Amino acid sequence: MINKIYFDRLINTIHDMELPYLRVCLTSFCNAYCYICHNEGQEKASSGGLSLHEYDEVAKLLAPHFHPPRVVLTGGEPLLFHDLYEVIKIFKSYKYTVGLVTNGILLDEHTQKKLLESGLDTINISLNSLDREKHQNFYGIDEFIILKKNLEVLDKHFMYPQKKINWVISDNPVFDDEIQKLCVLSQKYKFVISLMFDVNIDSEKTNSLFNRIKKILYNNYGEPSIEKHIKYKRYIEHLKFNNGSIWEFDYLQTEQNKHLLKNNVFCRNCHSENKEICYEGAYALRLFANGIFKPCLIRKDNEVKISDIFPKSNIELEVKYKVLDFPTKLIESLGFVELKRSHQVDKYHIVNKILNGKRTYMRLRNDVINNKMSFDFHQVISDIAIEETEIALNDSDDIDIMGTILEKLNYPFVCEVDKYRMVYRNGDIELVLDTVKNLGKFIEIELTGDEEHESHENLFQLVTKLSLNEKDRIIKKGYPDMILSE
Ligand code: SF4
Repeated sequence: MINKIYFDRLINTIHDMELPYLRVCLTSFCNAYCYICHNEGQEKASSGGLSLHEYDEVAKLLAPHFHPPRVVLTGGEPLLFHDLYEVIKIFKSYKYTVGLVTNGILLDEHTQKKLLESGLDTINISLNSLDREKHQNFYGIDEFIILKKNLEVLDKHFMYPQKKINWVISDNPVFDDEIQKLCVLSQKYKFVISLMFDVNIDSEKTNSLFNRIKKILYNNYGEPSIEKHIKYKRYIEHLKFNNGSIWEFDYLQTEQNKHLLKNNVFCRNCHSENKEICYEGAYALRLFANGIFKPCLIRKDNEVKISDIFPKSNIELEVKYKVLDFPTKLIESLGFVELKRSHQVDKYHIVNKILNGKRTYMRLRNDVINNKMSFDFHQVISDIAIEETEIALNDSDDIDIMGTILEKLNYPFVCEVDKYRMVYRNGDIELVLDTVKNLGKFIEIELTGDEEHESHENLFQLVTKLSLNEKDRIIKKGYPDMILSE
């Protein structure tokens, strides 16, 4: 259920500011320490991100308000976000072009393949130098060798113009040899080199640095072919040199571009006392990892909280049916998209114990494929509603430690449920296909919502479409109950 007052406030701001696209900061955490980083304006270490349900709501509701829908996933470092691939699939299912900005340190070949499989369209790698020592000084960590290897294999998976180097220039002088190294990289691995400036570099300095870089390029590689256009309210110049290297000059921080980014109803009427230091203007709608929509980096009075738009529910409505096989073709024809696969080994320490009048379950989960662990506490509210409280664990050692603590608290290990899981999603509804060791195959339909009539109807309409039989429905029994009664 949406709170229309807050939702309309957000939509009006998008339209009045003519915000060209959505920028989602999946996490505020990072594995590097770049000294110029503004963390997209987020407070440091403020949050690890939103739920998949919330991202699905955001993707669905905002898609009609960007023309065309485009999202850039960033952070902190977005590759640290545990459900990154699922978030990409969610945005793709609403027809967004999806881009990712990363420092590239975690971008190994396996990750690159998974990003492509999830549907990622473009990837930008922030880099300040191809010299190991300078890179270390800038990033605060010595991971240059790994990064270089990652850039080399990227060529196998991402083609031109899907991949860019965001060459981050602070007020350090520009070195000729650096430019030549970047040219070689661009030529050899078909990267576009996109120039980005530290926020402290003003319009005059931007223009003078651009001219200086162009001069070095022209002297070394001759006259390029030049294309100029306006993209996402920014003046962009593309320079293609005869040696095959491609450079992108983004005039975001120049006076003429400020005019483009502030020429809208909202900014024209802005009376912020900090308007003078607003270098970015109406650049993009940001969604921070702590759930705040931020239309511009300067003002706070135009922010909207996601929790005001979608009052949070942690109630899951679910129904489960035993099946002989999974009707995957039918599921896909109904518009469901596969989100993820996992192999979950759950160790239960409480099974079907009545606490405060509710059936209660407590388990330690180890998702072997995705390397995710959690400690989960569930209470059954009705035949279809479950209240869930979960906390992530760091590694399998945490599972052992938690197991020992539970034993000492007199909650001994009761049973294990070992299952392979495939998750499909269409809007609010998740379809979970489980193959459970010693029990067989099950389809679970899940909806995060409330116990209102409309939510019930959505669940049972899908049951009919999937031809699931009432006689095969599993009521008042979870997998651990079934294992124990075997
Ligand atoms: S602070 Fe800048 S971006 Fe924000 S409304 Fe004012 S002029 Fe526009």
